Amino acid sequence: MKSGRPRVCVAGSFVVDLVFRVKRRPGPGETMLADGFGMFLGGKGLNQAVGARRLGADVCIVGRVGRDAFGDMFLARLTQEGIDSSYVTRDPEAGTAIASPVVDEKGQNSIIAAPRANMQVATRDVDAATDAIAAADILMLQFEIPVGASRRAAEIAHKHGTLVLLDPAPVEHGFERFDAPVDYMVPNEIEAHMLTGRLTPEEAAAVLLPETRLGVVVSLGADGALAMDRATSKRFPAHKVEVVDTTGAGDAFRAGLAMKIAEGARLDDAVRFANACGALACTVMGAEPSMPSRLTVQEFMEDRARP
Ligand code: ADP
Repeated sequence: MKSGRPRVCVAGSFVVDLVFRVKRRPGPGETMLADGFGMFLGGKGLNQAVGARRLGADVCIVGRVGRDAFGDMFLARLTQEGIDSSYVTRDPEAGTAIASPVVDEKGQNSIIAAPRANMQVATRDVDAATDAIAAADILMLQFEIPVGASRRAAEIAHKHGTLVLLDPAPVEHGFERFDAPVDYMVPNEIEAHMLTGRLTPEEAAAVLLPETRLGVVVSLGADGALAMDRATSKRFPAHKVEVVDTTGAGDAFRAGLAMKIAEGARLDDAVRFANACGALACTVMGAEPSMPSRLTVQEFMEDRARP
C-alpha cells in the first residue's frame, strides 16, 4: 500500500435502473400495466466503488451524471457511503444514464439502456483526477464509459505506480481499442470466451495473460473463479449459499479482488476473499444493496473455514 488504508479509484459509470416486473413482455403497439416496479442506483462504476468502500478502502470515483434529480441522488449516495465525489462532473447537457429492464415471470429480461452522461466522460475529466489516480493503490476500470477516458486513466495509473484492474465488460464496448497497460484483467466466463474465441476458461486466460502485466482472473459464477499468473493456474470453488439474486455478484467479486490486491495480498488469497464477496452478494436482492461489509465477509470466511 502506498500509505495507510488501501486506496481505490474507480473511473466508471452511474446508471439508474428502472425495473418493471410483468407476466410477459409486451408486444408491438401494446400498453401493459406492470405487476411491480423498482428503482435502483447502479452502474458497474458505482457498484464497484460502493463494494470497495464497504470493504474498508478509501474510494474515489471519476465519472459523469446529469444536472437532474438522478444526478442529485447519486451524489447523495456517494456522500452517504463516504466515497469521494470530487471528480464526478455534472454534464451540462446529457442527463444521468438510465436503463429499463423489463423482467417477466420466468425471470427473463429485456433491457433498454440510455448511457447519456456516462458516454460524455472525457479525457479532461480523467486528467483532472490525476492526483487521485496517482495516490491510489489500484484503479478499477470497466467499459461503461468511453474507451478513450479509460485508456487515459490506465496510462496515468501506470505512470504513477498505481495497479490497473480491468473488468472488460460490456466486451463489445471497446476491448479492441483499449490498448493501455493492464495489471489484472477480470472477465467473466462468457466475456473470456468472446474475447478469445477459446472454449475453456483456462485456454482463454492463457490467451489473455500476455495482455496483462500480472494476471488474469476469470469469474465462473456458481463455479467460482480461475486465477492465472505467469507461475500458476488454479481454480477456486464458489461457496454454497442460498441464492436470492445473483445481480451484483460480479461487482462484489471485483471489488473484493481489488481491495485485497491493494492491500498487497497474494493473488490466491485475493481470489478466495473475492469468492466470499461474490457469494454473499448472491444472498441479497439488487446490486448495490448486496455489496457486503468487511466484517460480514470476515465472519463468513471464518465460519466456512470451521471443520
Ligand atoms: P458476472 O456477474 O460478472 O457474470 P459471475 O456470475 O461470474 O460474475 O459471478 C461473480 C462471482 O460471484 C463468482 O466468481 C462467484 O465467486 C460468485 N458467485 C456467482 N454466482 C454464485 C452462486 N450461484 N453461488 C456462489 N457464488 C456465486
